[in-house]
Amino acid sequence: AVAFALLKGGPPLTVEDDNKIKDLLKGYKARLLPSPERLAEVEAEFLTQMRDGLSKRVVVDGKRMMMLPTFVTRLPDGTETGECYALDLGGTNFRVMHVRLGPSKGEVTACDVEEVTLPKEIYTGPGDKLFDYLATTLKSFIDRHRGSAAAAATSAPPFQQLQPSQDQQPLPVLGFCFSFAVEQDGLASGKLLAWTKGFSCPGVVGNDPCALLSAALERVGRPCRVAALLNDTVGVLAAQRYLDSDTEIGVIIGTGTNACYVERLTALSKWEPPAGHAASGDGRTAINMEWGAFFSPQLPRCEEDLQVDAASPHPGKYLFEKLLSGMFLGEAARRILFTIATEVEGLFRVRAEDVQAVLADAREASIGNMAYATAAATIPKPLATPGSLSSATLSAIVHDRSWGLRKTRRLLVSELGMHQPSTRAAAVVKEICTLVAKRSAQLTAMAVLAILRHNGWAESSPPRPVTIAIDGGVYERFTAYRAMLSRAVSEQLGERSRTLFPLIKFVLSHDGSALGAAVLAAAAVTGR
Ligand code: BGC
Ligand code: MG
Repeated sequence: AVAFALLKGGPPLTVEDDNKIKDLLKGYKARLLPSPERLAEVEAEFLTQMRDGLSKRVVVDGKRMMMLPTFVTRLPDGTETGECYALDLGGTNFRVMHVRLGPSKGEVTACDVEEVTLPKEIYTGPGDKLFDYLATTLKSFIDRHRGSAAAAATSAPPFQQLQPSQDQQPLPVLGFCFSFAVEQDGLASGKLLAWTKGFSCPGVVGNDPCALLSAALERVGRPCRVAALLNDTVGVLAAQRYLDSDTEIGVIIGTGTNACYVERLTALSKWEPPAGHAASGDGRTAINMEWGAFFSPQLPRCEEDLQVDAASPHPGKYLFEKLLSGMFLGEAARRILFTIATEVEGLFRVRAEDVQAVLADAREASIGNMAYATAAATIPKPLATPGSLSSATLSAIVHDRSWGLRKTRRLLVSELGMHQPSTRAAAVVKEICTLVAKRSAQLTAMAVLAILRHNGWAESSPPRPVTIAIDGGVYERFTAYRAMLSRAVSEQLGERSRTLFPLIKFVLSHDGSALGAAVLAAAAVTGR
């Protein structure tokens, strides 16, 4: 029995420990997963914030949805053709794409893509440096294409034959997908309201990202025509709409989270559409909600969520995003597991040498409180380190179906510094990771259904089929999350689920944000 216990990673926990674990898990479940009543209250507040945001310009404090008009009144219908470039900035990566639309209806081809991981000093350093970096990357990408295009002597598509530059070639057309809150005053201009996610470059908030990009492109000697500026949610909506006319909502669940949907101009009472603008559409416009900024005191948050927020780059802001998106899922789970580790000492073991090393360090630093040092030493160091549990690892753990949770145990050793983790320890970790992911899925479902409710979808007779286009790393790579989201939607529809649920279609819009940027830029230039 002793050998077996060792094989499973040390002696079993006491009955007392076991009960404590059960209580802790029960407590977290109650705090993280909202009851239907609680969820209904949250949804009511969500709807109120939507209406408030449509009727008056909201204070930009990162605590309410901004409901920003996007100047996209006419969504593409698949007839746009031509070639252009798309620039996609928003998460941890930044992408440049060369896109061809057509020749047949609805055909969008990403001919070439280059993806660059932004260094931290770029996304937290001075704004000019950020835009110089983007422009330099784009310049070499375009030069490469222009070179090969000239060699092949292909004729330029008609809409590029505008404003010839010095070298007599038409200016490349660019769609700029900029995944932050922008108050637009035109399809290709606006003002950044707030940085989110890990970005914090000084000198950009309050300025026009399009103008900053154009200026940087001039500086590097590769002027372009930036024809459309859009949020990633709008790109996803546009790209999917190009393929499926039932698409009404675009959602991102990636590093950050957000949604946009098609709204009637009559409901958007805070907004005076510029002359000629409304006439070009059918009296509707896409609204970038910035739902990440939603807040309600009824949101299911635990102590550890407050810590995640306090330690984040933008504390006190975008609190809904902090419960939903990939930048925070792993960190919330890590902090909860850390609390559990302090409560149940023997659960997550540390190698004896590591304990000794920590104690020796403490002695050397003559930390007075050795009892405290001893307790700290029994917690795996990476588990106590912010950012050590990535959302990718969290998703791998949630997906683990291996015998005795072997995969999870391996990850606990490699990622969280545990020593011979027991199956019990792995099960606790898996449960916490699953709870954190489920909460995100349930809140996403609540928000999507609130948009549909706002649009009177369920009450229309008969309710029409509706497509929700989604992109972002969490939705794309975390398959269990997709199932959790469907399930949550079905549960929240309640008794009407049987008739309504089959009408809702979630579609992964892979690369939708960049492709949508290209489609909208092409549409803008051809003047459709
Ligand atoms: C930004 C949104 C964006 C979302 C998803 C949020 O942090 O504020 O504009 O759409 O992330 O990328
Ligand atoms: Mg993106």
